[in-house]
Amino acid sequence: MSDFDLAVVGGGPGGYVAAERAAARGLHTVLVEREHLGGVCLNSGCIPTKTLIHSAKLLQQARHGAAYGVTVEGGVRYDLSAAMAWKETVTARLRSGVAAQMERHGVTVETGNARLTGRGRLAVDGRELGARQIIIATGSRNARPPLAGADLPNVVDSTGALRLPHLPARVVIVGGGYIGMEFASYFHAVGVRVVVVEMLEEILAGVDAEVVRQLKSALPEVTWHLKSRVTAIIASGVTVETPAGERTEAADLVLLATGRVPNTGDLGLEAVGALFNRRGITVDEFMRTNVAGLYAVGDVTGRSLLAHAASRMGEVAAAAIAAEHPSGNRMRYHAVPWVVYTLPEIAGVGLSEQAARSSGRRVHVARLPLAANGRFLAEHMAPASGPPAPPTPRGLVKVIVDAASHVLLGVHMIGTPASEIIFGAATMIEAELRVEDLREIVFPHPTVSEALRDVLWEVRL
Ligand code: FAD
Repeated sequence: MSDFDLAVVGGGPGGYVAAERAAARGLHTVLVEREHLGGVCLNSGCIPTKTLIHSAKLLQQARHGAAYGVTVEGGVRYDLSAAMAWKETVTARLRSGVAAQMERHGVTVETGNARLTGRGRLAVDGRELGARQIIIATGSRNARPPLAGADLPNVVDSTGALRLPHLPARVVIVGGGYIGMEFASYFHAVGVRVVVVEMLEEILAGVDAEVVRQLKSALPEVTWHLKSRVTAIIASGVTVETPAGERTEAADLVLLATGRVPNTGDLGLEAVGALFNRRGITVDEFMRTNVAGLYAVGDVTGRSLLAHAASRMGEVAAAAIAAEHPSGNRMRYHAVPWVVYTLPEIAGVGLSEQAARSSGRRVHVARLPLAANGRFLAEHMAPASGPPAPPTPRGLVKVIVDAASHVLLGVHMIGTPASEIIFGAATMIEAELRVEDLREIVFPHPTVSEALRDVLWEVRL
């Protein structure tokens, strides 16, 4: 007999949401976590990074407040230890919030490392546990490139960068993906000299080229080495192979932001015959693996390495296990929004212009600078006074519309608070609304979100 209806392995946003939703449906559920509830997102990902980035945003605003009529007597200073302490307060509070949610829903929480020992069987630090169904939600970890010098004390990954005792004077960031860019933006704002090394032709692969150009213009002191490769790390910096030849970049900190790998090792997947590859565990649209009664959600599937996608996958798995709307409640990836929390923020959902065109569709594209938006102008566009302000990008919202059906296919934005607006675009894309329908929706004024409404009137149907 099984001890539980459902065992969830991993207490991140994929696992704890799956456990909560399943328990709410009356399933006797256990959640096994080897480290901290909340997973990477809460403890060393989404939340701590956004807490630090917020401190950098406040610093920027305080430094450049004079143009808006606010001066700070005696100068503005950044206190890293206070920012770190606030980050700890936030994560601790949210961790206990997750624990309380589990308790409220009657989820049993087990601490330990779980491993599959057979179908419906787990060993948790040696203790045997049975469950009719199992969800693997073990997430991912930072990739460590095989670089000479990668184990030197001046080298950190994103987790280490969130625990720095003091700010470096100069940092080399290896990798121009979203994690690398969020740290680049943070360090730039708090006065650290930043060098970014990216192997591809451009940072933020897949993001609209105009959006990327605007982001780079907001980071004027950053040195970019594109189509370049760090060949070795030394105590005083890195050597980089660039298209113009090899060069040395001095740095007192090297941040490796070279991607994530799924936590599939030592889980006993082979023992039960579950299919997986180096990207993650193979699942269908209901998060089922090839093994009956075994599901996988979140980063460990390699499908969409985002916390909100992980949570949605958890919901889909819980619904499938409870056999609720088995055909309708499936994972759809095309309307999962994404945000890069740089200063300014970038957000998008759906197809990029390039992806839409290369899919063979005929599309209409419309764009609008946010500088035309009243609220954005009031909050972002004052000419600098006091210390030189970073050039304010004009901000942009761009929409891609299917020319035949007039259905919205994609929305891309740069300009804070794009992160707070993009869910609206995701709703529009998920609901497959047409431009004519969208134009009838009323937006509050004055908000930056109105730019999304305005750009829809720029579409020439
Ligand atoms: P995880 O959060 O990785 O949780 C997995 C859990 O499983 C961990 O707690 C781990 O300890 C546990 N575990 C692993 N193996 C076992 C085992 N064998 N037994 C028991 N427990 C186990 N995403 C966003 O959407 N927005 C952001 O702003 C954002 N910022 C990020 C910033 C950084 C620096 C990083 C690194 C990531 C960021 N992410 C962000 C990505 C986000 O953190 C992940 O997509 C999300 O955490 C994935 O959730 P998950 O539940 O799949 O796995």
